[in-house]
Amino acid sequence: MSDKNDIIYKNPSWLQRNVKMIYILALLLTIPSWVWLSWITLNEQAQEDLQEQVYDDLSLFADSLNSELEKYRFIPKMLMLDASLVHQVINDTSPAEINQTNQHLQHIRQTTNADEVFIINAKGTTIASTKLNNIGNRYLHSPFYNTARAGGSGGFFTLGLHAGIRGYYFSEPLFDPDTDEVVGVIVVKVNMARLERGWLNKATPMLITDEYGVVIASSTPSWLFTARAPLTAFQKQQIRASSKYPTVSFPVLQTQLHKSTPYGQIVSLPKPGFKRVLEVTQTIADLNWTIYGHGNLIAAKQSVYQGVAISSLLWALLLSLAYVVTQRRLQLLETLHRREINQNRLQQAKDQLETRVAERTQALKSSNDELKQTQQELIHAAKLATLGQLATSVTHEINQPLTAILASAENAEQWLEKAQTNKALDKIIQIKSLALKMGLITSHLKTFGRKTDDKNEWVCPQVAVNNALALLQPRITQERVETVIEDMSTIEVMANDVRLEQVFINLFTNALDAMQGRDCKRLTMHFTNNVHNDLKQVTIYVTDTGVGIDSEHLHHLFDPFFSTKDVGVGLGLGLTISYSIIKTMGGELSAQNSSDGAAFVIQLQARELC
Ligand code: ADP
Repeated sequence: MSDKNDIIYKNPSWLQRNVKMIYILALLLTIPSWVWLSWITLNEQAQEDLQEQVYDDLSLFADSLNSELEKYRFIPKMLMLDASLVHQVINDTSPAEINQTNQHLQHIRQTTNADEVFIINAKGTTIASTKLNNIGNRYLHSPFYNTARAGGSGGFFTLGLHAGIRGYYFSEPLFDPDTDEVVGVIVVKVNMARLERGWLNKATPMLITDEYGVVIASSTPSWLFTARAPLTAFQKQQIRASSKYPTVSFPVLQTQLHKSTPYGQIVSLPKPGFKRVLEVTQTIADLNWTIYGHGNLIAAKQSVYQGVAISSLLWALLLSLAYVVTQRRLQLLETLHRREINQNRLQQAKDQLETRVAERTQALKSSNDELKQTQQELIHAAKLATLGQLATSVTHEINQPLTAILASAENAEQWLEKAQTNKALDKIIQIKSLALKMGLITSHLKTFGRKTDDKNEWVCPQVAVNNALALLQPRITQERVETVIEDMSTIEVMANDVRLEQVFINLFTNALDAMQGRDCKRLTMHFTNNVHNDLKQVTIYVTDTGVGIDSEHLHHLFDPFFSTKDVGVGLGLGLTISYSIIKTMGGELSAQNSSDGAAFVIQLQARELC
């Protein structure tokens, strides 16, 4: 049953209801965008990294190439100062001297690690060389010869006209010291293959093109002397004029351009495994060459894929974490809310309970008060009933002295008329004694009949016993009942004196009733002292020689309205009331059968008088 004050749980909020859906939607919507974004960013980054890496390689290579070539550039510059060589060119020397010069040049070649060192005379013919088969060859159209012949420093790449070997030729003029005329040319040749050696372990292809776009060096030998683009007629004419190469028709290197990016061009190379490479170029301005380096995009893509996978996973994890944290937080809020509600409910229930308990306590108190009141009235009523019962015998008891008083008063009157004052005085003394006797009887009645509260105090039980016996004395005498009463004047019990007297009257009356018609009529009272729960107690036994109590009735004696007496004689309330009176004194009243009749046992808190 729900109380109208019930506290209801709050409905879950929109967020609480939809947090899971939001999480799934966020996953579905953001993951593709995140993948795409990661892909773009990481791909861009990968290309940039690749470009940097390739560019670094190219720079390193360009630097080493330059420094290598620079090393050789100075050799002819030194040799041009060698007087013996100049002498050799100027004077037509003997074969022995030429041989000596050849050896000198050979020594220089070995020392400098050059490919070839040779001397050309003013007519363009080799007169001395480290390679004997080059002696006699003519270089009249070679640019390196012509430049030096003209007095300048020559540096020129060419495919060797006679040997067919790629080489870079450094040349310097040999001056006649007398005339300052150019009388010959000293040439130092460096083999290009030497310069390519550093590329051999490169995973991705590298190549160098000259000013015409012809591949003059490559990590892939088959690409040598191919062209990146078909040569123009002008370029071909220039090549012919310079005798740079023996031919002007070069096959085109079959590369395919896919895309131009800020980091280089994405091309495919005519080599297996290099379908998509990032091509980065760098020019060597001094030589008018271009170096091409390549970065493998497929390998870079692998790391991009991994990066995208990891970043997407991290994003999903982040979303999941946010979901878990949000859900935990919402659950916590829900728990707190429920706890608060439950506490309020508990408090409400407690308040209601307290109110109910207070109400019940109040009701119980009122009904207790009422009960107490009723009990008091009942006890008083019972007492009045007892008084009523006593009235007959008391009246009889009073009538006797009253009649005697009347007779004595008449006698006294007669004696006074006869002026016999002494005799009259005797009668008056008799009257006084009778009146005192009557007063004693009525005083007992008065004491017993007075209304009392239920306050207990230390009282002597003997007083109550005496009063009860006094009130019942006419009946005791009339029915010739023997009374054996142990004196209890030395003890005091916690009781209400009037109530205690009421109990004794009740017990004595019942005993007298039970002994009616019995041969032996003895009312006995004795007591014992004992200690119960650290408290001194007195146990008072009231026994008779009556009919005793039927064992079936023993359990019902103290029930209200239980009586075995005739209707109108017994009400069945005497023992009930006596029981409750003794209870209010903190004592116990019980019944049992003795050897002669019935025995009623009263236990009361007691103290002994000193
Ligand atoms: P009432 O005296 O009006 O019957 P009581 O409550 O005083 O009511 O007594 C209840 C019953 O207990 C009596 O009717 C009687 O049967 C039994 N009873 C009481 N005292 C004695 C006694 N001393 N001996 C035998 N029976 C007794």
